[in-house]
Amino acid sequence: MTALQETPAPTSVPTVTTTIDGHEVTVPEGTTIFDAARQAGVDIPVLCHNERYDPVGVCRMCVVDTGGRVFAAACVRPCEDGMEVRTATEEVERSRAVLTELLLADQPPRAEDPKQTTTGDNLLLELADRFDVARETTELPCGSGRGADSSNPVIDVNHDACILCDRCVRACDDIQGNDVIGRSGKGYATRIAFDLNDPMGASSCVTCGECVQACPTGALTNKPIRGIPIRPREELDAVDSVCPYCGVGCALTYWVDRERGAISFAEGRDQPGSQSRLCVKGRYGWDYAASPQRLTVPLIRIDSAYPKGPLSRDVRGDTNVDNDRGRAGAGGERSGGGRRKPGDKRGGKRKPGGLVDYDEVLPYFREATWDEALDLVARRLREVHSAGGPGAIAGFGSAKCSNEEAYLFQKLIRTGFGTNNVDHCTRLCHASSVAALFEGVGSGAVSTTYGDVVNADVVIITGSNPTANHPVASSFFKQARRRGTKIIYVDPRASTVAEHADMHVQLKPGTDVAFYNSVMHEVIRLGLIDRDFIAERTSNYDELARTVADYPPERGAQITGVDADTIREVARLWGEAGAGVIYWGMGISQHTTGTDNARCLIALCSITGNVGRPGTGLHPLRGQNNVQGASDAGLIPMFYPDYQGVDREGTREQFEQAWGVPLDPKRGLTVTEIIGSVLKPGGVRGMYMLGENPFLSDPNINKVRKALSALDFLVVQDIFLTETAEFADVILPATSYLEKDGSYTNTDRRVQLGRKVLDPPGQARPDWEIEQELARRLGLDWNYETPQEIFDEMVALMPSYKNLRYDNLGLSGKLYPNADPEHTDGTIVMFDERFNTDDGLAHLVPAQWLPPKELPDAEYPLVLNTGRLLEHWHTGSMTRRSFALDAISPVAEVYLHPKDAAERGLAHGQMARARSRRGVIELQVRISHREQLGNCFIPFHFREAAANLLTIDEIDPFGKIPEFKFCAVQVEAL
Ligand code: SF4
Ligand code: SF4
Repeated sequence: MTALQETPAPTSVPTVTTTIDGHEVTVPEGTTIFDAARQAGVDIPVLCHNERYDPVGVCRMCVVDTGGRVFAAACVRPCEDGMEVRTATEEVERSRAVLTELLLADQPPRAEDPKQTTTGDNLLLELADRFDVARETTELPCGSGRGADSSNPVIDVNHDACILCDRCVRACDDIQGNDVIGRSGKGYATRIAFDLNDPMGASSCVTCGECVQACPTGALTNKPIRGIPIRPREELDAVDSVCPYCGVGCALTYWVDRERGAISFAEGRDQPGSQSRLCVKGRYGWDYAASPQRLTVPLIRIDSAYPKGPLSRDVRGDTNVDNDRGRAGAGGERSGGGRRKPGDKRGGKRKPGGLVDYDEVLPYFREATWDEALDLVARRLREVHSAGGPGAIAGFGSAKCSNEEAYLFQKLIRTGFGTNNVDHCTRLCHASSVAALFEGVGSGAVSTTYGDVVNADVVIITGSNPTANHPVASSFFKQARRRGTKIIYVDPRASTVAEHADMHVQLKPGTDVAFYNSVMHEVIRLGLIDRDFIAERTSNYDELARTVADYPPERGAQITGVDADTIREVARLWGEAGAGVIYWGMGISQHTTGTDNARCLIALCSITGNVGRPGTGLHPLRGQNNVQGASDAGLIPMFYPDYQGVDREGTREQFEQAWGVPLDPKRGLTVTEIIGSVLKPGGVRGMYMLGENPFLSDPNINKVRKALSALDFLVVQDIFLTETAEFADVILPATSYLEKDGSYTNTDRRVQLGRKVLDPPGQARPDWEIEQELARRLGLDWNYETPQEIFDEMVALMPSYKNLRYDNLGLSGKLYPNADPEHTDGTIVMFDERFNTDDGLAHLVPAQWLPPKELPDAEYPLVLNTGRLLEHWHTGSMTRRSFALDAISPVAEVYLHPKDAAERGLAHGQMARARSRRGVIELQVRISHREQLGNCFIPFHFREAAANLLTIDEIDPFGKIPEFKFCAVQVEAL
């Protein structure tokens, strides 16, 4: 099995010395002959074996002569002291040739194209060539007659080519922990089976493609995407990069067909945090970049298209809200009047309901040169700035862009406009976690990695759905459990991870503070606290203890709906553990009590001494691929790069000196405050929106609609015409992730390089170049030639990134902090001696439970929870343009408990109406045993049924994060 990020055992292991083909090799006891041979530079052929999987020794291709009565399978036979191994005697080679011929006997005919797998990695055919045998030498009919299965949109199954080596079974079960593949049938009819022998596309398969990567024949193969044939590796270029979707930041290689200018396929690449694994988004979700709907030329709104939307820029207040309420979806008449421009042929095909309708929107814009568009943007933003002062300007940057682009964006807003009104989507995901972590431990980043789970006795995964949102991290959790780590899953939904947990605590939504206070109450009562740690490494314990004294398990049970014994059991398991980590997600952070929720987690870890050692710590699982990096780079209104407070004594002066201009001494507005400010007199009037789509991502989007319509000037820089771009005055076409170089920081603090894979379409330009062009037009003297130059400037201002350079990040990236990146991977466990707070102590901050802001009532009796699906990403602008992801998950659905559905007369698949006090949407019903009675779940990716029409824009007072996880709704038949 692949090694996890395990702390090396300090004890020395006994060794044995074996001779392999005349080479003497000394290896730790237990090492297989196969591994020892590799160490000695001797290659032994295999079929069923791969170093990533536990060896099973079923195919016998690796047999070697050890001098015994029978040959030994090298992949499973351990070396012995004094053993003499011969790996390629005549008899051994003959045995392998016969075996190859037998395996070939019932294979499908060899394709004219010499490759049979989609990547050309057909080990069986390589062996056939090596031993000069062919299927045609036998007289058996072609194929085993076990059939084929094409039901998955991107994976083909050809059972005839399967040799039952079980590599796919081990890949699916042991590596990814998906447990989909087994075997069915008997004798010659035996074949791999998905679930209960279901078609792959109808099974519980999550299309991670790990089995395709594992298959040594042509039984499991990738299908071409967008008609790009999958060619053998030797005809393709390999570009090592990083997945652009979630905060796990899996390392991958894109195999590029230069003739076609397209990606042929992607595969996982080794790196400590992903170990060659990918999920469906990383492996199959890259073709959005080739969408015909890419923006390729700057666009300027034509004069006759004003006012911009159904809400004129002059109209404020509540106008049209009632009209908006009856609407089923976020699309519609936003683009206002205007004439279609004759001859305008841009845009892709109309897609009812799914995406912005280019045919409808583009007539309101005209093409422009870059100079014309950039001059206009600079002039209009300057005018807004002159009229309203620095506070009239605001910028939303993007957590999808690189560190360099985030750094430049905040620098542009701060130095070009003299305001700190710059923020990004961290405000919508973990702002409250960061607020609590800063206050508690003096750092917003994780204190340990997700791979460190393997060193934990117990972990709590809470308010998170990692199998959907951090799939590869979840595979580490699942693997760790198989090796003995206990998993306590605390979440109102019974997500898939509940099936991999030792305990699922299904608390009522919005009751986290009460639950964790009760757990702490019990930990203290049982004496399971770490008194030394509390005394030496924390402050304010007495106040915390006084607060949680009011939360005995019985009271906790009353509030949370979890029985008192379960609370006691969680406290005992956690308190008795030698090492524990808490991993949390947006079910903790996206509440009006998000900061309090995170404070409780910090306190629970701290009072039990579970910080600063291997297998202990605090890990908010970050959402976007670069939300950690964008925050580190200063894309937040209260901090310069590296969380150096804009209002902290001496810091502003330091940055003024570095950047050469006076800076705003006040904290800026956050995402949610900026939207609110637009609708107030004297508020924000002009915005620069880089890669953000608040029209779908922000809460209560009728309010966002009004704000975007009311702006005096809006420039949107993106790769597609998003819902937000429909409101723009100018749209600037940017390159996608795949078309530029840059660095990205994952949830573990791993800084990695994303490399340019494809040429940009049309006139699209990298975001950093566009930012620089604008900066120059605003009078700033910027002359960056490469992202690397920007990175170097940024690192010089960020103590945490000290020592990191493009040329020492390597292929796996490096964790920060890192004292010696040339020789080490970086720091896994933080705070081993002191916390980053001023006094070096963890500050324990007690919290009282408060109910959510909008409770269910007779009119709106259900609690709405919103979130992501495995296949989609945020507002869907990338994933809904990816063939695989859209094919697997094309429809907006509301997930309902069977009883709630039955009470409303709703059947699975039926269309329903979901409404809240803020809006109405129409979508399909999914009956789901994962929901609690009285709760429903709606993913927020779907424009045609935008969940954020329903959500409430109440925010946490500290992190300013909206309560995406709780509002009152009704769902009813149409
Ligand atoms: S694609 Fe992934 S989940 Fe599906 S069968 Fe293969 S390994 Fe299992
Ligand atoms: S787990 Fe995240 S980073 Fe890894 S492949 Fe999936 S989406 Fe990409």
